[in-house]
Amino acid sequence: MDTDSLLALDRQLLWHPYSSFNNPPPVYPVRAAQGVYIELSDGRKLIDGMSSWWCVLHGYNHPAINQAIKDQVDKVSHVMFGGFTHEPAVSLAQKLVALTPEGLNKVFLADSGSVSVEVALKMALQFWRSKGQPQKTRMLALHNGYHGDTFGAMAVCDPVTGMHHLFADAMPQHLFAPSPSCGFNEPCDDEHIQPLRELIQQHHTTLAALILEPIVQGAGGMRFYSPQYLKAARALCDEYGLLLIADEIATGFGRTGKMFACEHAGISPDILCLGKGLTGGYMTLAATLCNDRVAQGICDGEAGVFMHGPTFMGNPLACAAANASLTILTEQDWQSRVATIEQQLREGLAPCRDLPEVAEVRVLGTIGVVEMTAPVDMAVIQRKFVDQGVWVRPFGRLVYVMPPLIINDKELALLTSALCRVLANS
Ligand SMILES: *Cc1c(COP(=O)(O)O)cnc(C)c1O
Repeated sequence: MDTDSLLALDRQLLWHPYSSFNNPPPVYPVRAAQGVYIELSDGRKLIDGMSSWWCVLHGYNHPAINQAIKDQVDKVSHVMFGGFTHEPAVSLAQKLVALTPEGLNKVFLADSGSVSVEVALKMALQFWRSKGQPQKTRMLALHNGYHGDTFGAMAVCDPVTGMHHLFADAMPQHLFAPSPSCGFNEPCDDEHIQPLRELIQQHHTTLAALILEPIVQGAGGMRFYSPQYLKAARALCDEYGLLLIADEIATGFGRTGKMFACEHAGISPDILCLGKGLTGGYMTLAATLCNDRVAQGICDGEAGVFMHGPTFMGNPLACAAANASLTILTEQDWQSRVATIEQQLREGLAPCRDLPEVAEVRVLGTIGVVEMTAPVDMAVIQRKFVDQGVWVRPFGRLVYVMPPLIINDKELALLTSALCRVLANS
């Protein structure tokens, strides 16, 4: 199919994320991808600054992940998980339990990040029901949080930026604490914790869980906050009988400099959501882990079972990709890889600080954020980035990158200099 027909048919037939058919946003046809490069059908190659929305940890077309999937295809691509099990799923569960914070021993394999959040919320509800506290049905979440687009997940996203106005009448109504006001390296004392403490003190009898993205709030604002806040949140949940759900769908797998962002605070959540980078960006897979107390509580309850079971649960191909990706990650010195990227992002993005439209530049792990004083015009700026040979997709006032771990010094320098150049001329 020639490129013009492809683009015409795309406009006629396909939804893209958050898009309109009346005013379709420009899309670029991709024909291949290799390493950190995405190749357009006209032959241009773009350095991927987004890791395809946090997923592509080790770059595109990685030989080991390719091989793992090919090997698995020849054995079994899919089999129902009701009544069957298989090695890819069992190996993955073993790896995840070993890698994640202490105590998270039970693994539910879900098909996407949003679904893993739905699963986490249902776990919390079933837990309290079975503990004889069926009135604990509400969630406490944070402003600027993002947890996915399905109904349960959407209901715990930021109430202002998170589509609540469109769906409010059809959504469960939860509680929201202010976004943490202490930055990653800033002291966090009682005054910063007080708003969260007050809400919990006031409402704990009806609250099932606190759900948050540890340390980095992603799609809801790209904000970094203090590990002390997370520690205090864990302590408050213990004191007042709330489960703590950590959504590490974006932050997991080394992105913040720790394997999981919870480790910055040395805490374990009761329930943990993983997704995005889990398969190294090859296909959709997510996981919800919980501790023994939550698992036991659910299974002791009136239902006696956990009530969720996706058709593609534990898909062997996805598990094989995840196993290969985790092996690549853990068999390298990923800490120094992330530290090198962090240092280079700091240096490379520093010149953006001097631009008049830039409000703040911040970097943590492989995540670099340039916050502007006003929203950028995405379609316009996207074209400029493509013209510079990089793929960066801002939202609102946030221009950010989180490149694949395999990006080399030269490619990263090209990425950051292109970013500053485009922002200087827009
Ligand atoms: C992307 C994301 C989700 C949703 O994951 P999907 O796979 O898009 O459903 C949930 N929580 C966080 C923190 C995310 O970054």
